[in-house]
Amino acid sequence: MSDMDAVAITAGLVRFDTINPPGNERPCLDWVAGLLEPAGFRIEWQELGPDRANLIATLPATGSATRAPLVLSGHVDTVPLGQAEWRVPTHEGLIRDGRIWGRGTSDMKSGVAACIRAALDMAALPARAADLRLILSAGEETGCDGVLALADAPALLGEAGAMIVAEPTDNRPLLGHKGALWMHLHHRGVTAHGSMPERGDNAIFKACATVATLRDFDFGIDPHPVMGPPTLNIGTLHAGMNTNSVPDLATIGIDIRSVEGQSNADILAAVAAAIGPDAEIETLTDMAAVLTPEDDPWIAETRALCAEITGASAGRETAMYFTDASVLKTAFGHPPTLIMGPGPMAMAHQTDEYCETTLIEDCTRAYAEVARRYLA
Ligand SMILES: [Zn+2]
Repeated sequence: MSDMDAVAITAGLVRFDTINPPGNERPCLDWVAGLLEPAGFRIEWQELGPDRANLIATLPATGSATRAPLVLSGHVDTVPLGQAEWRVPTHEGLIRDGRIWGRGTSDMKSGVAACIRAALDMAALPARAADLRLILSAGEETGCDGVLALADAPALLGEAGAMIVAEPTDNRPLLGHKGALWMHLHHRGVTAHGSMPERGDNAIFKACATVATLRDFDFGIDPHPVMGPPTLNIGTLHAGMNTNSVPDLATIGIDIRSVEGQSNADILAAVAAAIGPDAEIETLTDMAAVLTPEDDPWIAETRALCAEITGASAGRETAMYFTDASVLKTAFGHPPTLIMGPGPMAMAHQTDEYCETTLIEDCTRAYAEVARRYLA
């Protein structure tokens, strides 16, 4: 069995360029499978396209399982490098000044590496009362594409009694995150020569009416006690071809972040009712909010344990971003789900991305102890 520590595994993962698009996660995950299979993991693939796949690796219970599996999950794709020039190598896995540097070190190859190392350690246990499953996904950064495909394949997905999603939280054990509902609102009109606007029907006027309506959009709920209020941002407005034509199309892009207890379908219906028939709604991303009650027994024990091991605070806060947990928790029928990983939240998607190596080591010890207790 591999004796690489989690920092070395992080470096190994970072050496694969999995910038999405295009992703190319398969070679990276092939390398991971090569670590897990000799340790007794059953390897399953879900092919998603050329050089793209989800990896599901299962360390089976010894004897018959007494509870549903513990799932550890993370994505191996990363965002692009951005326009700014990097001062450190992007895909070498450079370790310097107590940090590992490069694209994906925070979001979230360090978290994936901690999952892998903790899972490998469980292979040495003489007895395990449940399966331990690693779900390592592709395509998260473009809208959870990998796990959406997995949710459509129940036999491969299997079940989960509890789940950890290793997204960057600076090792803080978080209860969940907001949902996301992104959409384009298309307003159609009739074009005409700019010198005769009365012959046209100006799509920009319709879009402006929508903007005015949405600026004061009321979700009709009090702020959530943990997540705060839902929000609505108007991020884009594209319209018109040239100055001397009446525009026949105006498209607004909006980003709604929902809270636990809200249904994205209900929000969509409320937006449609508010803006009226002048806009066609095209949904781009639809992710439910994720929240496990803090008095859930597994969550309560696990958060306390993780905080004790890593020294990170276990407040009531949730993450600002959304994750694969949105899809997986729903697909699994809502097992208790912890969002916790070693990556610094502030470093996700940044130029000169890094993760402190001590965060990775602490996180790995926490996952291993959580898994040891679950499998006992
Ligand atoms: Zn991520």
